[in-house]
Parts: sequence; structure tokens; C-alpha cells
Amino acid sequence: MFVDVAFPISSYRQFTYRVPKEFIDQIRVGTRVKAPLGKRMVTGIVVARFTKSDYRGEHRNIKQLVDPQPVMDKKLWDLAQWMSSYYYTPLGQVVKTVLPAKLSAKYSPPITSLVTFKSFGKDYERLQKRAPAQTRVLQYLSTQDGAVQVSALKHLVSGPNMICKSLFDKGLVDLDEQINLPDVTGFTFSKIYKKIVFTAEQRIVLDELSQKLNSGKFSPTLLHGVTSSGKTEIYIEIVRQALAMDKAAILLLPEISLTPQIAGRFRAVFGDQVALWHSRLSHSARAWIWKQVCTGNINVIIGARSAVFAPLKNLGIIIIDEEQEYSFKQESPAPRYHARDIALMRGTLHNALVIMSSATPSLESYYNHVKGKYIYLRLNERYGSVPYPRVHVVDMIKEQEETGKFQQVISSMLMKKMENRFAKSEQVILLQNRRGFAPILRCGDCGSVETCTQCEVALTYHSYERVLKCHFCGYKTGKIAIACRQCASINMKLLGTGTQKVEDIIHGLFPNVKTARIDFDTARNTVAMTKTLEKFANGEVDVLIGTQMVAKGLDFDNATLVGIVNGDTGLFLPDFRSGEKVFQLIYQAAGRSGRKKPGEVVIQTYNPDNPVLKHAAKLDQKTYYNIALSERQELNYTPFAWMIRIEVEGIKKDHVNTYTDKIRKNLRSPAKGIEILGPANCYRERLRGKYRMHIILKSDKKYDTNGKKLHSFLQKRFSAGLLDKLPSSIKAFVDVNPISVL
Ligand SMILES: [Zn+2]
Ligand SMILES: [Zn+2]
Repeated sequence: MFVDVAFPISSYRQFTYRVPKEFIDQIRVGTRVKAPLGKRMVTGIVVARFTKSDYRGEHRNIKQLVDPQPVMDKKLWDLAQWMSSYYYTPLGQVVKTVLPAKLSAKYSPPITSLVTFKSFGKDYERLQKRAPAQTRVLQYLSTQDGAVQVSALKHLVSGPNMICKSLFDKGLVDLDEQINLPDVTGFTFSKIYKKIVFTAEQRIVLDELSQKLNSGKFSPTLLHGVTSSGKTEIYIEIVRQALAMDKAAILLLPEISLTPQIAGRFRAVFGDQVALWHSRLSHSARAWIWKQVCTGNINVIIGARSAVFAPLKNLGIIIIDEEQEYSFKQESPAPRYHARDIALMRGTLHNALVIMSSATPSLESYYNHVKGKYIYLRLNERYGSVPYPRVHVVDMIKEQEETGKFQQVISSMLMKKMENRFAKSEQVILLQNRRGFAPILRCGDCGSVETCTQCEVALTYHSYERVLKCHFCGYKTGKIAIACRQCASINMKLLGTGTQKVEDIIHGLFPNVKTARIDFDTARNTVAMTKTLEKFANGEVDVLIGTQMVAKGLDFDNATLVGIVNGDTGLFLPDFRSGEKVFQLIYQAAGRSGRKKPGEVVIQTYNPDNPVLKHAAKLDQKTYYNIALSERQELNYTPFAWMIRIEVEGIKKDHVNTYTDKIRKNLRSPAKGIEILGPANCYRERLRGKYRMHIILKSDKKYDTNGKKLHSFLQKRFSAGLLDKLPSSIKAFVDVNPISVL
């Protein structure tokens, strides 16, 4: 027998191996195997089985089966194959994404044996004479409160296991086993119990959802609920119904470290049937959860984007919370998938209910609703009838003129309102969507800016470590010497504002106020992060300062003021989504204010007349979405066209140029409605030491309703073969439905 094996390599080639006799019974499509590839032994996955091979040369042998059974069931396998062709990614590499790293199907958690004293028995004297070791153990146990680890008796006697067994046989002790499960509760607040009383509006939504769940049909649903409309309660109830029907559920969250509240709520209701799935699980926890999921002991998975692959049997529901979030898109490595697209595909394969939920849906999902492709459910009321926050816009140019202070970070209005909150012991959230202290360090004499040598972007000053950091490649200088590299001037100026600077300024303005910061730098320590959020929830911290992270899903009753320090951040990036992103961020951040009591929002901007800012300030989603949609239509961008981006990168600029041209030349005579832009330099022309160019393909949905025309064109003109022929110094990526073109 022979098998084809796909490996997690960048090539599309699959390799044929001979199957030694002893494996023939067990080997299946979907089994992981170890086989020689070149000079290495590599783990791959069996993609086909056959009895005759056309290959004339010598076949190498499969060396080892990694798992006794296939680790992917038929549906997950179908999904992987679809991903491979849809995202132009070799199957082996897709499998690497779908299966957790270093998954061991054989893992079982360590067991501790425990022993407890019962009595000395009737024949204690005889025991003392005949079995001194047993006596010693029994003596010791009689002085202990409760159970003792058998292994801990090693200091008393040798071979404590045997001795305890003898004592147990005589009925003098009790033996017990304790399974040491890996800790799978990270990122969870302790269980949060809440009594739920649904509003009339929530009931209507729930009835609709249960009907779809009961239908057993694929039901893509957009749940459009304003912030604080009680979506978590709806998730819990519909998942409860699914479990009652013996169906399993996946809940996808954009940022697992920021959503301990939802996880806490779920654990309170569903107990150990729930597991969290995220990249920071230990390998043992991961293997354990995977096994429990495969055996059906865990039926609810909560996690970030990769949780969409959890191998739940009888999957009934997938919920994507904050479906507009960009963290659902994997940018690297390939496949560059979007968890929402995968959820929809899995939903189709499992005939499941897929709930895309948001207060600010992505323009794509909104458009799909307008076109009648999704079931649309609306929640208009804030839970408990809390009014919307009042929004104030501060024109920072006027502010400068009036106060004569340039580069002011906190306007007088924001400052006054903060003061007022502190007087009432209420809390404040400040959004500044840039981390570090200052994003630019410029020489006051020659004007040169400190940039990253690998990326050609300005380096950000981080005040706590006193270093400059590149936010793209992670490059970090030593403690900075304050002198210009060009002219040696010491007249260096820090320009712009990051979260650290905001924190500094708040300390200066309000010395007695306690602050905490959440951004990429602080989020790395996950335990500290959960603590910070818990402290803010408990009122031990007055001001929470952060990047877009503070806008996400957090729910704090006592936070009644949200300040958006610079509403313009990201507004002018040359990307078709920059406006949508800023709008959603401001709208979401505003929603953090006044979850229980009436709240206020202060937006500081240099562009108060910009339509994004204007409509965000009025919380007028519909008008803004219509404007944004008509702009997209005019330029024939998503969601009016299918988009695919081919990105080419390499160390040498002329190489990148040559190969991008070559790829472009291949893309000839496209079908009607397909438009090809480029080759052009990417906006961030050089990142991590590599030059970057791209070609963008757009296919008008008027001529290509399901995107198949574009895919078949690309499959023909940008074949797998071409990718395999690129020299190793050049890498080309295909990004299907890109979320940005920077
Ligand atoms: Zn200089
Ligand atoms: Zn860099």
C-alpha cells in the first residue's frame, strides 16, 4: 500500500510513501505520520491511500504513526481541503493551522495516589512485630489530618506504594486517586452568577434563534445589537438550548485576554463543559482539551480565532462576538484566513446556526444583510434602559488657539469632566490608540527622524525602558543616548503621544489618582492583565488608559466617562478600511461609558468636520455606513468586489521588482469585471528587512456573484507551480479577502 503525505512546507508538492505492513490496518486519510523528507524526519498528514503507485523510482517508507487514529474527522478534513484551495495554501500548511501545535493524542494527565488513615485495627500488636515499615506508615498517617500523597511517604519508608497497598488490603487505610488536570482556567474571572430576566426585545431575538437552531439548517445570522444590549445573556441562553439538544457550541472572541468576564459567566452556567482555547495554553492543557473535545466531555469552546477549528462533534452553534474585529483575520503565516469565513464554511458543513454579533458590524456583513443574504436580528435597547452616553466633541485646533498651548494632550473639557468623576468616585476610561510614549523622535536641528533600520518606519520612544522600539519587527535600541545620529545635536524632540505619555500626563494632573494601562506591552503578561481588569472592575483603579484594547467588550458599571484622546489616529492611512476602522473604534469606545449609570464621552479631534468623526460623535451608524458603502461602490472595493492581493517580498529590491513583474505578466486576459492594480510598492515599503510589492485583483460582484470567476482566473494564471518556481530569496503570498492593503 502507498500513501500521499502533505507536509507543513511552503510547497504544494505531496510525496508518496510505501506503508510498512504493520501500519496498514491503522493508517487512514487524516492520520499523522512521521516520514523522511530530504534528510529530515518530518510529521505530515496522510491525504490519500492507494494500492498502486505510478512512480517508477524507489519509494521511501513511512517511519511511524503519530496517532493511533486520525486526529481530524471527515468534516474538519473537508474544511482543511476547502481552505487549501480557497486560500491558495499547501494542504500540509493548512493542517498545521487547524491542528494545535505539538498535539499529542496520547496525552493523559498525571495521577497522584492519596492515602488516608482509617484505624489501627485489631491486630496492631502483631503488625508492630511483623511489619515495622507498615507500622511506621500507619503511625504517621494517624497523626495527619486527611489524605496524604503516597509519594510523600518516601522519606519514611522505601516502596510506599506497596506498603500502602498492603495496609489497604488489611482495611486499615483508604486509597484514592487524584487526577491532576492541567490548568485550563486562565483568562477567566472567578465564576460570575447573574439572574437573567429577558426584555421583550431579547425574547423576540431568542425565539428567532431557537427556531433556527431547531431547524437543523445552516443559518447565517447577523445579530446587530447596540452596546450594552445584553448580548452575552443571549449567547448563554442559546448555548444552553443547544446543549439540551446534544449539540456543541463555539464562541469566538476577538481578544481572549480582554474577555475574562464572558468566560466567567459561561463557566458559572456550564461548569466543566466549557474550555477556553487560545494560543497561550500549555501543551498539556491543549492536548487534554483536544482529547476531551474529541470524546465529547467538553461541549463548549470559548476562544480566539483558532478556536473555530475545535473538533466538536455535532456542532450546532458558532457565535462570533464583535465579528468586525480584525483579530479574527490571521495575517501570517499562511493560510491568511478569516475566522468568520471559516465559521460560515463550518456552519455549512455542520448545518449549524452561525451568529455574527456586533454593535458595529463590518461593512461586509452589513452589506450581506442589506442584500438579504443573512438573517438579521436587531437589539435597539440598552439593557436596563440605560440612556446612550452624551457625546462631546473637542476641536483641538480651537483649543490650542484659546489656551495658547500647542500639542496639548488633555483638553480643559476632558480635564474638568475627569475631575468631576473623581469627586464622585466614578471611573474613567481613556483611549489613545498608540502604545509607547511618543511615536516620533526628531532632531530639532537637522530634522532627521530616528527610523528602524529594517522597516523604514519611525521608532517609538518607550519611557519606562528608555528605549526606542519598532512596532513592526520588534527591534529595540539600547538605552537611548539623547543625540542625533546625523548631526550629533542633543536638541532631540519627542513628537506625538502614546499611552505611556498619557499615563504620565494624568499623573501630573491628578497626583492622587490611580491609573492602569492596557496595551500590547502590558498584555504580554496575561496574569497581570486579568488582575488589572479585575482591579478596575473592583474600583481599585480610577483611570484605565489603553489602546484599542480598552474599547473591546469590557463591561464596567462604574465607568461613566470615556475620553478619546486623539480621535484622528489612523484616519489618514491610505487604506480602504481606515475610515471604517476609526468609526467602529470610536463607537465601541463610546459604548464603554455608562453601562449602568448615564455616561459621557469626550472625543478630541483636529478634524471635527470629517464625516467619520462627525457621524461617530452622533452615534449615527446608518448614515455613516451608507456613506462608506457608496464610497466603496464607487471605487469597486469590498463588499462590492471580491478582492485578492498578491504580495511579494525579498531582501533585494530589484529581485522583488522582477518577480512581481513576472507574476503580473502571467495575469493576462482576465474575465469581464476583473480589474488588476499594480504592481506597486506597498505603503510600508520595507518591513523586517524585506522590500514589499503587491498586485491587487478585484472582481466586480455584478459579474462574479460568488467569486468563482476570480478564483478560477487566479488558479489558472497564478498556479501552484509558479509559487514553487520562485527562488528561495523571494516569497509570494496570496491574501484572499485582505483586510488591509498597507
Ligand atoms: Zn540632527
Ligand atoms: Zn522594524
